[in-house]
Amino acid sequence: MAASLKGVSLKSWPDIYLPPIGEVNFPVLKLNDSNRGLVEVATGKEFRLYVCGITPYDSTHLGHAATYLAFDLVNRYQRLSNRKVTFVENVTDIDDPLLERAKRDNQEWSVLANSQIELFQSDMSALRIIPPEKFVKVTDSMELIESFIGKLEKNGYLYQVDGDFYFSCADFLSSLPQSLNDSIRIFAERGGDPTREGKKHPLDPLVWSANVIGEPGWQSKYGYGRPGWHVECTAIACEYLDNEGTNPVIDIQGGGSDLIFPHHFMSAQIVKAALGRDFSDNYIHAAMIAFDGEKMSKSKGNLVFVSSLIKQGIDPMVIRWALLSGHFQQDREWNSKLLETAQSEVSLVRSSLARSEVFHAQSLVNDLITAISNNLDTPSALKLLVEWAKASHVNPSSNDAGLVSRAIDSLLGLAL
Ligand code: ZN
Repeated sequence: MAASLKGVSLKSWPDIYLPPIGEVNFPVLKLNDSNRGLVEVATGKEFRLYVCGITPYDSTHLGHAATYLAFDLVNRYQRLSNRKVTFVENVTDIDDPLLERAKRDNQEWSVLANSQIELFQSDMSALRIIPPEKFVKVTDSMELIESFIGKLEKNGYLYQVDGDFYFSCADFLSSLPQSLNDSIRIFAERGGDPTREGKKHPLDPLVWSANVIGEPGWQSKYGYGRPGWHVECTAIACEYLDNEGTNPVIDIQGGGSDLIFPHHFMSAQIVKAALGRDFSDNYIHAAMIAFDGEKMSKSKGNLVFVSSLIKQGIDPMVIRWALLSGHFQQDREWNSKLLETAQSEVSLVRSSLARSEVFHAQSLVNDLITAISNNLDTPSALKLLVEWAKASHVNPSSNDAGLVSRAIDSLLGLAL
């Protein structure tokens, strides 16, 4: 394997302009934190957002899209509130499922990963997701991951089992989000190895695994091998977001609700052990998307891909509208009816925006902002917009169409 690199970030995708909305007030954003409930987030001038990225072998299904869309709304809101946003996202481009898929399809793993990363970038661009400042591949981050593992070692939280290195998490288990037995069960279901002999605690996660013959590896102080998942994210997040030694290091760690445990829990404990500080002020999670009654998942083979919908001729703004029509923290279903409704509502709003006179809109804009500030209440925001569009046909009384167009573009990412 080529020499590992430090501090490299991929080109993400073209930046997105947020049109100004004018003199409006942005209340502090409130989000439902998985540990703390509804809280005001990031009230300071700087806002540091880390969202866990894809493993590039099945991008981008609607579950991914819904998650990145939710954090895009957070990003937009914080920018419009005049906060300096730094947004970092990783790409887990070396992982067991990626290697398994490459083997199944008789493809070089890195070729598969790169092609899926490209697809992800074009899907994100089509959906008008603001790109991260740093979009970072794990395979470009081996040196900084190695050096982060060194901090765990220095502080006495690293041990070895037959050439593999584990993080000793026993000191940090008082805040487990469920019982120990349930934690062990979920840990095993999500790739952990609780029964491995020689481990100090069943929940200790791998931070560096020795190379398996035939698999890719990287040279490191911990031998030839590759890093574990949790330490990758913490190393990348701390490298690019920990500028000032603040506590906590970042404002939000985000991802899908399947990352609550063990991934985000372990990320928090690893940072505490390595730096002696809290990792993130908030842990925000987006719910799952089902398809025709079943959870969308790789194992069920019922994934719906953004790129296939676009290829079928569906307007990405209709996909965006359809995903926003449900609340980001409500497990919900994707089906053809949802898409049809989104199509007709988008057409209705477009036809109103094209009129020379529309219903007055200053209070609409304020109400949209209030809805988004309240834990990203997009279902209410879209309802308000539909009501306004209907009223514009019945009672046109102002030339506010441009204002609405700019507001929904900036706030909701809907360029209609
Ligand atoms: Zn992560």
